[in-house]
Amino acid sequence: MEIKFVADCMLGRLAKWLRALGYDTHYQRYYRPGDIEHLVKEGRLLLSRHRGATDHYTKAVLIHANGVSGQIAEMKERARLVPVRSNWFSRCLICNVLLTETRKDAARGNVPEYVFYENMAGIRFCPLCGRYYWPGSHRKRMISQLEEWGF
Ligand SMILES: [Zn+2]
Repeated sequence: MEIKFVADCMLGRLAKWLRALGYDTHYQRYYRPGDIEHLVKEGRLLLSRHRGATDHYTKAVLIHANGVSGQIAEMKERARLVPVRSNWFSRCLICNVLLTETRKDAARGNVPEYVFYENMAGIRFCPLCGRYYWPGSHRKRMISQLEEWGF
């Protein structure tokens, strides 16, 4: 089974990058008491900056670095990330849900025209928030960053 994460409220940027890599990563800006316990019981590995939290669970990784590059390095070392490239950009970076294909008439007007005409097959849609994703310059920059991190 593929590894799933729950990231604490301090790790929003890391959560976004894990989602970009295709990992199911739950993140909230605020957790009520019991939320994290529930998510860990669901089978998620806790990522936290608080030793108190990571000591409490057997399935947890304590993150030390402040910056996301350092956090990614810690994840590679301690959570044994081996992302499958075909899973990259398969999730909404905001909602964490899997993106779906989109109907041509629905995509028109929601993506840049050159994407619509040249790369319709590459357009994906988030069924939860309605955002469109496509291979463009923003994606290219993210891929360069991921490659820089050694993925
Ligand atoms: Zn979304």
